[in-house]
Amino acid sequence: MSYQHIRLPPDGEKVAVKNGKLRVPDQPILGFVEGDGIGADITAAALRVWDAAVAKAYRGKRKVRWCELYMGEKAAGIYQGDYFPAETIAAIKDLTVAIKGPLTTPVGGGFRSLNVSLRQEMDLYACVRPVRYFEGVPSPLRRPEEVDVVIFRENTEDVYAGIEYPSGGDDNKKLAKFLREEMRAEFFDDAGLGIKPISPFGSKRLVRKAIEYALERERASVTLVHKGNIMKYTEGAFRNWGYEVATQEFRDHVVTEDELWNEHDGSMPAGKILIKDRIADIMFQLLLLRPAEFDVIATSNLNGDYLSDAAAAEVGGIGIAPGANISDDIAVFEATHGTAPKYANQNKVNPSSLLFSGVMMLEYINWREAAQLIDDAFVKVLADKTVTYDFARLMDDATTVSTSGFADALIGKINP
Ligand code: NAP
Repeated sequence: MSYQHIRLPPDGEKVAVKNGKLRVPDQPILGFVEGDGIGADITAAALRVWDAAVAKAYRGKRKVRWCELYMGEKAAGIYQGDYFPAETIAAIKDLTVAIKGPLTTPVGGGFRSLNVSLRQEMDLYACVRPVRYFEGVPSPLRRPEEVDVVIFRENTEDVYAGIEYPSGGDDNKKLAKFLREEMRAEFFDDAGLGIKPISPFGSKRLVRKAIEYALERERASVTLVHKGNIMKYTEGAFRNWGYEVATQEFRDHVVTEDELWNEHDGSMPAGKILIKDRIADIMFQLLLLRPAEFDVIATSNLNGDYLSDAAAAEVGGIGIAPGANISDDIAVFEATHGTAPKYANQNKVNPSSLLFSGVMMLEYINWREAAQLIDDAFVKVLADKTVTYDFARLMDDATTVSTSGFADALIGKINP
């Protein structure tokens, strides 16, 4: 495939997916999108740390061949105002693994979120957000070490599907008339209208992915989080379809919470995963007060959006939380925070969210040794209290460093 502005590194090879298995060469070409706002600063810093860890772990035998891809404001400058170039999408599909910084989305108008478009365009149906505690990270919890959850958020449906009709528009009026006259719905005049589609297909593949993950990583439970007491036929259906997948497709591996109490006297049979569900609002409280009870979480799009950031706040905030959006063959890793425009190009913010998204990416391609080196270096740098401004304001006696200074400190621990 030939590209207009994208340059594939000549000495690299593409990662391939064969029969559902990832095949990773020693010199894989991985895509990266710098992102808007603080994207340039955090990407430059993280690239140096990932490369240092890979070089140290494999002593030159393995090396990532980075390929820059363009989205957002940088793309608009290169592709005559196109923020979402078709060749970037083609390249991500071709390379199958990529990582991206944050992208700007205007509120209440302008173009549609590039992040949402990307997820839908490639059908990246699962947003995966591991939230765990690293020693030394400032936390509002008394026992932050109990937080170790992986949130699987459905990415393509729900109120994020983009089926919205603005107040006063012709389509809005048409839909309002239909809802009132044909469906006997009641709502105030001129209400903006949005549709919340949640399907068995979308719900089941998300829950399936979460259970497969839990099995592979030997996690203890999968919790289905929903607001089914109020939205019975969307959120409630998500819950029901989740249990269906669990009990029909993973029967030998799972026990539901009902079965736990009715058949096993509350004591979990060895080697099985507990499937339970919680209503979204109480889940926020539980994750704060009793985080040890949760492990893998599977939830719908909007719940997952809120819950991921709330969980991240318990162990350092979105400046550190990593994420990935995955389909059955494509994986796009991403910083979970936004572009923080007031800090753009100040070399100030915390690069850890992108950094740890890269750690997830290294784990995904099975380069676990390099991933571990970064985890270990992070704990050591935190123990020295060498941190960016966001952590420094939560810690006593910290030394505040810049984005690049934080990367230097990590590299110094990787190569002491
Ligand atoms: P934001 O960019 O995440 O920033 C909100 C605040 O979070 C910042 O002011 C800063 O807090 C803190 N923060 C974010 N990243 C940080 C980092 N790396 N290190 C330290 N602190 C960090 O959220 P926003 O201001 O609501 O959104 C700005 C733009 O980003 C919008 O266009 C939005 O649509 C977009 N966005 C993109 C993504 C994405 O690409 N995945 C996700 C969310 C938002 P303090 O001011 O307290 O220091």
